[in-house]
Amino acid sequence: MYALDSMGIVKLIILVLVIWFGFVLFKKFRKPASRADQQPSTNKMVACSVCKTHIPENEAIIHNGKFYCSKEHME
Ligand SMILES: [Zn+2]
Repeated sequence: MYALDSMGIVKLIILVLVIWFGFVLFKKFRKPASRADQQPSTNKMVACSVCKTHIPENEAIIHNGKFYCSKEHME
């Protein structure tokens, strides 16, 4: 009787560990995916070649490999 009970507890502990391990793995695999999603939106700051104003790369005007804050500074 006692041996059967302790076996049940061991099985329960193993089950809890398996669930916990699965949960940890699930969290681990979810995090890099969400980070990869955020990375392209985190704007890299670039300086305008004319006035040195720092602007997000996606808002900058790139011409001949140089960054400009506005069309006026591009000329
Ligand atoms: Zn400028």
